[in-house]
Amino acid sequence: MRAYHDKFRGRIMLAQICDAAKIKINALPWLKQYMEEGRNKLCYNNVLGVCSHGQRCRFVHAPKTAIRDDFAAELCKVIKPGVEWLVRNGDAAPGPGAERRNGKQRRY
Ligand SMILES: [Zn+2]
Repeated sequence: MRAYHDKFRGRIMLAQICDAAKIKINALPWLKQYMEEGRNKLCYNNVLGVCSHGQRCRFVHAPKTAIRDDFAAELCKVIKPGVEWLVRNGDAAPGPGAERRNGKQRRY
């Protein structure tokens, strides 16, 4: 994940990662304690890096202690092809403060 975080500054674009890895988000590994009525409640953005929704996120931000190493390893393995694809082909995240410019992002 190092190259990914260097490029995207910790921002996780899970939909793009899954697209690039050719997997569905619901095919990702899950943790039993964060499943509710068969649906995942765990925020993967928060597990993998920084969740841009913060406090308003509709998913659960699990404490780091709840994320077991084997779960993290499995998750990383599943999304790895997508992460690597984005590192090679994705647009790098804009610099700090870019969000404040009315959502208009310059493409590099
Ligand atoms: Zn979240």
